[in-house]
Amino acid sequence: MTELSLNSSIDDVSGVGPKVKIQLGKLGIESVQDALFFLPKSYENRTKITQIKDLEPGGAFQVEGEILESKVFYPGRRSFYAKITDGTGFIQLRLFFFSNPQVQSFKNGLKIRMYGVVRNTGNKLEIFHPSYKLFNTDRRPPLDNTLTPIYSVGSSKITQYRLRNIIKNCLGKIKNKSSLERKIDEAFKEKKVSNLSIKEALNIIHGPSIEDDILKIKSFNHPAQKRLIVEELLTNLIGVKISTKKIDAMKSPRISSSKTLIEKFQKNLPFKLTRSQLSVIQEITESLDGSKPMRRLVQGDVGSGKTVVAAAAMLCAAQNNFQSVLLCPTEVLAEQHFKNFSLWMKNENIEIDLLTGKTKKNEWEKINKNLISGNTKILIGTHAVFQKRVVMKNLALVVVDEQQRFGVKQRYEILRKTSEELLPHQLFMTATPIPRTLAMTMFADLSVSKITELPPGRNPITTSVMSNEKRTELIQRLEIICAEGNQAFWLCTMIEESENLDVQAAESTKKWLEKNSSKLKIGLVHSKLAKAQKDKVINDFREGKINVLVCTTVIEVGMDVPNASLMIIENAERLGLSQLHQLRGRVGRGPDMNAHCVLLYEGNLGETAEARMTAMKETNDGFKISEIDLEIRGSGEILGTRQSGGMELKIADLMRDAKLLSKSEEIANNLSSETELVELLMQRWIGNKKNLIAAQ
Ligand code: ADP
Ligand code: MG
Repeated sequence: MTELSLNSSIDDVSGVGPKVKIQLGKLGIESVQDALFFLPKSYENRTKITQIKDLEPGGAFQVEGEILESKVFYPGRRSFYAKITDGTGFIQLRLFFFSNPQVQSFKNGLKIRMYGVVRNTGNKLEIFHPSYKLFNTDRRPPLDNTLTPIYSVGSSKITQYRLRNIIKNCLGKIKNKSSLERKIDEAFKEKKVSNLSIKEALNIIHGPSIEDDILKIKSFNHPAQKRLIVEELLTNLIGVKISTKKIDAMKSPRISSSKTLIEKFQKNLPFKLTRSQLSVIQEITESLDGSKPMRRLVQGDVGSGKTVVAAAAMLCAAQNNFQSVLLCPTEVLAEQHFKNFSLWMKNENIEIDLLTGKTKKNEWEKINKNLISGNTKILIGTHAVFQKRVVMKNLALVVVDEQQRFGVKQRYEILRKTSEELLPHQLFMTATPIPRTLAMTMFADLSVSKITELPPGRNPITTSVMSNEKRTELIQRLEIICAEGNQAFWLCTMIEESENLDVQAAESTKKWLEKNSSKLKIGLVHSKLAKAQKDKVINDFREGKINVLVCTTVIEVGMDVPNASLMIIENAERLGLSQLHQLRGRVGRGPDMNAHCVLLYEGNLGETAEARMTAMKETNDGFKISEIDLEIRGSGEILGTRQSGGMELKIADLMRDAKLLSKSEEIANNLSSETELVELLMQRWIGNKKNLIAAQ
């Protein structure tokens, strides 16, 4: 086959037809370069078989043995198990979701090879939902000879196997490096970051061999990884520099405000603003009242009341006859904010509109006219707002809620919705604290405002930890809460990394609840439901027609139902600390309510999971939680969710890799004047978005 260049389209690679191309597109892979820089999020070691007697619970292992027996098992939660031996001990495979053909394929005497996290459940070893292969003794499959990279495929239908092969094909066929590439390699050698060329580094990262230092790779400390991490960081640093320069040269619309305006707004609210909210509002209005673009991050713990602060700022814009946009990561959140804004501003005579993927066509057209004419002053919406046909007359302020959910590219697109010479002011809302030094470096001149107190009357949420085997005890608790007129969330999280399993888990929990209680009214929401259905359930829950909402992590961000007082989280041991804290923050939002959170876990808790649970029990303070989170992570634990601090990073993690920032900065300073080289780096790490960095 002919050689490929980095810019070759992905369908020039063998194995990529039209269908695969679409699935790759969902991952942002359009060129060979995109594929090469689509990096694994973790690795599995399937190069060796571990004897059962040597297994250590908590770790991931590959084992092989003979099936002794298998059956579907009822009391408690329905599951399928198979007992396996290799002559040195016994282990069980356990599935909570399975099909009939799957069950039938397990025959006594057959051999199995499986890979997964080994758990010690009581007095036996088990692996839940391992990846496995069944085979006859004479057909033993060969072992892998490299570590197996695992990619984050999200909702794309592409399999890990196929993606690996495509990337391997790309790696094998790229041309030798250009002089520009050599220049970058030199800079890295000189600064003693790594002697590896980019191609060598990629080869290792996409398929580390057994001779490579596996422990280093797993903790992202391998020179090949450092090579890429530093390159990504320095590219972003250069990007920030360019964007800061651009922003400094631009002007923003001046939004003036007055004390009386805020006082009037305050009067129309159903609550009194906290001192902290008021001082953040003041910081914001002061910086809006000037032609220098504002770029401000508002940090406040879950439930601290960030939305109303955003509303105050947007009201000021409207009073100055300017338009503003509030961007929300989910429809649920957009609708919730729309309702609140409409209520808070009902005496203001301001046109507020809601734009989501659900908005009907004729409504769309009406809203669009109002946006163009400037009639609509406040627009609340989801990603739908990014569409090209949405055009605004005089956008002066962009607020991004849960900013960590949005990428650089999207934030830029929204800024383009208005006249080019005036840059809208930007306000980012987040509950994730970012260390100040990091924020300063990676976000350049971003100002930070903090909401440091919760609204009065909020009692701390008490948290308890409980084995899933005792889940029946929760039924009575749910019935009591509901009899008192309160409501509960029952959250089902992933058993393995699969949306399907997630949904199945939620469905089976709902059935189980229905079987065990006739008093509860139970609703179910998950990502696979049709929108109309999802909305209906959420609405019913808001209106109290449903007592218990069984759900997947669709409710993770921002959802606010003041009457909810109990949060139950299944498989809590699998979630990171910050995520647990976010989820817990969904309850206890009503005044003087006693709210609880129950963390259910499966099997025995490992050391780090236990540390997370303890932290949850001991504190409700989001800042403390994130400190502890960092400490636990620091000890080598790598969780699924990366802390990119709002930037779409491919391999770097701002927290984990903070120590590499200064090296990256040195190299960035040396390279930033080389236009062509900078262009190559931008293309590689920020995608086809060279102009977009104005929004970082
Ligand atoms: P978050 O900071 O997590 O986005 P929200 O803005 O959703 O929090 O606010 C959480 C809840 O607290 C909402 O129901 C909101 O109306 C309410 N709230 C906000 N500010 C106050 C306040 N000063 N006093 C009482 N309730 C408040
Ligand atoms: Mg919020």
